[in-house]
Amino acid sequence: MIILGIETSCDETSAALVRDGRELISEVTATQMQIHAAFGGVVPEVASRHHVEDITRVVDETFREAGCTWHDVDAIAVTCGPGLLGSLLVGVSAAKGYALATGKPLIGVHHIAGHVAAATLNSQIRPPFLCLVVSGGHTELLTVDEQFCFTKLGGTRDDAAGEAYDKVARLIGLAYPGGPKVDELAHEGNKEAYAFPRGLLDEEGYDFSFSGLKSAVNNALTKQRNRREEIDAKDVCASFQAAVIDVLEEKTKRALAHTGYQRLVVAGGVAANRGLRSRFTALASATGVEVVFPPLRWCTDNAAMIASAGYYRFQQGKESDLSLNAYAQLSLDTWQSWA
Ligand code: ATP
Ligand code: FE
Ligand code: MG
Repeated sequence: MIILGIETSCDETSAALVRDGRELISEVTATQMQIHAAFGGVVPEVASRHHVEDITRVVDETFREAGCTWHDVDAIAVTCGPGLLGSLLVGVSAAKGYALATGKPLIGVHHIAGHVAAATLNSQIRPPFLCLVVSGGHTELLTVDEQFCFTKLGGTRDDAAGEAYDKVARLIGLAYPGGPKVDELAHEGNKEAYAFPRGLLDEEGYDFSFSGLKSAVNNALTKQRNRREEIDAKDVCASFQAAVIDVLEEKTKRALAHTGYQRLVVAGGVAANRGLRSRFTALASATGVEVVFPPLRWCTDNAAMIASAGYYRFQQGKESDLSLNAYAQLSLDTWQSWA
């Protein structure tokens, strides 16, 4: 079964053709990163306007790259939330138009289900597994069953991990998106240089909090600037990154011990982080748990992951109709409750 995936929830206009949820046939992504970098972050109105300009070309190129036609497609999957409303609406409207014109089934996909499904692309991994989602807007521990149904164990109470990376990057004057640059600098710094807080580490359960960490970084930098001390960005990044990963690792370790899962998926943009990947790889060898990361290209937003998640949703017998809408806020539970 071949599914066309469409993703426009933020600042990437992406389309992909994927066979049976796992095998990539083709993928085309138009990124707006350079455009938004000038503003220091994504400007919603600008993003949706570019999606409108790019979407049909991106879909056409995906077919051309694959050497496929609409005739080969079995269903159309599109991100319907959560994300920027104006951006989501472009993808959802396009997908509905294609569905109406071709008569193909339409599948509304939750963006985070996509990030999780990315781990199955070009991979043999099968649920059940535990999943740590670390992205620009989410930090969650989920269980994923055989049918690809999700149960949330806990999540962030304030900032997401990726959001914290981007905010700290901005505090030290790095260009948007700062996450990858913080990652790079962290490798050359001393992680003991600053004693930053490990949010909610002593609390039971699987919730996270990263806003206190961001404030602690801000306070430390302000203090040093007031004293006219030189700030070593590498040390700040290394200490910050150690604080983030310590919490992610510890809470995940507890969740693995509590649930007994022998397989762990780490997904979302921050799963591209080198420090995090090496720490979780070490956790795997220490505990015998199998740890899987999506390939780097599928950690951040892309349409292949949406086509993949759409496939699992379709296997559950779930389909959307032309009343499908876009939702800036959408919980996994709400999405799963749709008929
Ligand atoms: P969400 O998926 O929650 O809606 P999003 O789509 O904006 O949010 P993603 O595309 O999954 O988020 O990931 C982008 C985030 O990942 C950004 O915050 C970015 O800084 C972060 N990120 C990307 N690469 C790295 C890295 N190497 N180290 C740390 N953070 C990274
Ligand atoms: Fe995302
Ligand atoms: Mg993005």
